[in-house]
Amino acid sequence: MSITPLMPVYPRCGVRPVRGDHCHLIDEDGTRYLDFASGIAVNLLGHSHKGLIGAIQRQAATLMHVSNLYGSPQGEALAQRLVDKTFADTVFFTNSGAEAVECAIKTARAYHQAAGAEERHELITFTSAFHGRTMATISASNQEKMHKGFAPLLGGFRYVEFDDLEGARAAIGPATAGFLVEPIQGEGGIRPASQEFMSGLRALADEHDLMLVLDEVQSGVARTGKFYAHEHYGIEPDVLATAKGIGGGFPFGACLATEKAARGMTFGTHGSTYGGNPLAMAAGMAVMDAVANDEFLAEVTEKGERIRTRLEQFIGNYPELFELVRGTGLMLGIRMKVESRPFFVHLRDKHQLLTVAAGDNTLRVLPPLVIGDAEIDEFFEKLSAGAADYQIPEAG
Ligand SMILES: *Cc1c(COP(=O)(O)O)cnc(C)c1O
Repeated sequence: MSITPLMPVYPRCGVRPVRGDHCHLIDEDGTRYLDFASGIAVNLLGHSHKGLIGAIQRQAATLMHVSNLYGSPQGEALAQRLVDKTFADTVFFTNSGAEAVECAIKTARAYHQAAGAEERHELITFTSAFHGRTMATISASNQEKMHKGFAPLLGGFRYVEFDDLEGARAAIGPATAGFLVEPIQGEGGIRPASQEFMSGLRALADEHDLMLVLDEVQSGVARTGKFYAHEHYGIEPDVLATAKGIGGGFPFGACLATEKAARGMTFGTHGSTYGGNPLAMAAGMAVMDAVANDEFLAEVTEKGERIRTRLEQFIGNYPELFELVRGTGLMLGIRMKVESRPFFVHLRDKHQLLTVAAGDNTLRVLPPLVIGDAEIDEFFEKLSAGAADYQIPEAG
């Protein structure tokens, strides 16, 4: 037998964390890493946040799980908080980002089908998008590397170039149900949509009675200095998928919708055994307590601007390596002129700095939102040292 007990779908690296300490991870052999990856934008409170740990411990000892057959005081309370904080009127809780997007896709289709428009089932999605790894969410992305081996894909998705408003307009037809888009592409390389694109999609959706569905699984929950990234654009979606940071490390997600958009999501149309269980809701409440306030969001903005300014100065010292910095708040990307993956490995293995590689030769900088001056200084020390002793690998 040569297959590993863990199904070998991840090319796992040699870092084997066993403990977290605020913004650091500690490996099996005791090595400390500065964590500017945050479990890919998940651990927004770092690794040892007392409020989050206490909330999970208390809830685990009180009531861990009950079925959605019963009333849910915990779910009602968190849903109300999300409704108060956002465009949404109603919330469905899931266990992951992909499931949140699945629910969003179903909500958009059901919106039209509830009105008898069965033919309006197609979502227009955008190149280099990432929406998750379920059959529907890989079908929603044009990235062939995620499709290989899993044909047939699900129908009902049409791909248009990201940030191409005219392309989106031209793709609208009698089958169109709406748009599904990340306001800031994450895996695609921290690529923010333009203002014109986001306002334009909103206007097209209004004009043609389409659903504007946002995937804010990565950009949401204070990551960009707003509670959701679409707030930067001054527009509101009809439906939104959120996950990653929302549980601060506890796995859960949610699909948020307006009352109008959710008109098809009636009794019996959707469900999840675990979705919104008391343990997840306790984690979500603790995260909301910490991040859903103007002071915290202002700090994220301030830290993001500070890092960005320093990064822009820093990359000027290495014009052969780095091209530009992009992103908002603490969702930042450094686009490289050379392949970004080997540099990301170099930072990890030689300098104990964890970042995340992404598409478009971009290095993602996704620190916990609770970083302070000490972590920011440590990041620049490691990054500078890493750039100074980096040797660009031979091509091929
Ligand atoms: C991570 C991510 C997903 C998928 O979330 P999972 O929890 O891995 O299922 C979907 N959309 C975006 C934008 C993401 O970054």
